[in-house]
Amino acid sequence: MAAVGLAVLHIISMATLKFAVLPGDGIGPEVMDAALGVLKAACKKHGDELDYTVAAVGGAGIDKFGKALPDCTLEACKKADAILFGSVGGPKWEKLPPAEQPERAALLPLRKAFKLFANIRPGLLYADIAGASPLKSERIPNGIDIVCIRELTGGIYFGEKKTWTQPDGEIAACDVMQYRTSEICRIAEVAAKTAMARGKKVCSIDKANVLETSVLWRKTVTEFFAKNYPEISLSHMYVDNAAMQLARDPNQFDVFFTENMFGDILSDEMAVICGSLGMLCSASIGDIKNSIGQKFGLYEPAGGSAPDIAGTNKANPCAQILSAALMLRHSFGRDETAREIEAAVRKTVCGGVRTADIAFGGESVGTLEMAKAVEANL
Ligand code: NAD
Repeated sequence: MAAVGLAVLHIISMATLKFAVLPGDGIGPEVMDAALGVLKAACKKHGDELDYTVAAVGGAGIDKFGKALPDCTLEACKKADAILFGSVGGPKWEKLPPAEQPERAALLPLRKAFKLFANIRPGLLYADIAGASPLKSERIPNGIDIVCIRELTGGIYFGEKKTWTQPDGEIAACDVMQYRTSEICRIAEVAAKTAMARGKKVCSIDKANVLETSVLWRKTVTEFFAKNYPEISLSHMYVDNAAMQLARDPNQFDVFFTENMFGDILSDEMAVICGSLGMLCSASIGDIKNSIGQKFGLYEPAGGSAPDIAGTNKANPCAQILSAALMLRHSFGRDETAREIEAAVRKTVCGGVRTADIAFGGESVGTLEMAKAVEANL
């Protein structure tokens, strides 16, 4: 990481994309293999080569090195320009203390180490598979196309926590929710930049009728957009209403952004209405620049390790493939290649080649066949 300026041009012209591959557990390694095949083929068309290091994470890290995020894995990530992450966890490690469990002990330290404060999660459901959504098809005749941006390193999840005994002997606990204006502005900037590349429409979600942090959030966001992005249409919505509106008419949003805990909940609601977890990708980025002057980021599917289908060649690889496309766009400046991969996934799925999760009981293909079909459609 670090070098910028002229070094950027030099390294980009060499066209070697250096990243860490952390397949993880369950379906992670299967969908990762599939995604790497597509990534290689897509990059080759543009003369780009891949230089990646595979490292253990999650349960695989615990089994091999005694830690969900082994030191050698963190080192491999530090030497890379981005991280392509699979998914972690499973029944084998569920009895460990919560702080040592694969997801918490791998993802949180990675977010912290690389200051990944913004999670960008596209909520994309093609009209052809609108039936995969639990929403009535007449509510989403054109599918769903929105983006959720969640603040990832602040708020109540990272505030002071304590449990104590009251003078009357009763036990009490508290978690502090805290935000600074700079934290609010930097996530607002991510939302604004995302909206500038789409419909120039942003909804900021808070609970300003109750929470002090939300009052500051709303005031800061309003001033930030008025000063820096007057061309964007900005609205505000309370989080309880946002939860209802997402289920009622998701496409009324274009880009919405919110603080950490609200985003945790709303992004999962969005995942459900968008059909299968097997189709949803995400990017976590911060302000750290990689060695080619782009944003360092971690890219992963929205779903987990799916132990129920692991090892059966049933997992949908599209979420992992689309996460790789996000990596090309945000960490390597390869927007054209990213678009080609996204178009190939759309063509494949809409052309009827589908894994079981999006086949509605019809004919389905396996993980590898699906990836090969995407590769052929590049
Ligand atoms: P999950 O997301 O793994 O699975 C939920 C359902 O979605 C399952 O029926 C699964 O088969 C299906 N699914 C998920 N991805 C799919 C894909 N690519 N193709 C087809 N179907 C898919 O959630 P869970 O079952 O609650 O969690 C399983 C494990 O994953 C747990 O240990 C949990 O902690 C972990 N987890 C990890 C992450 C992460 O690595 N970021 C995220 C969520 C859950």
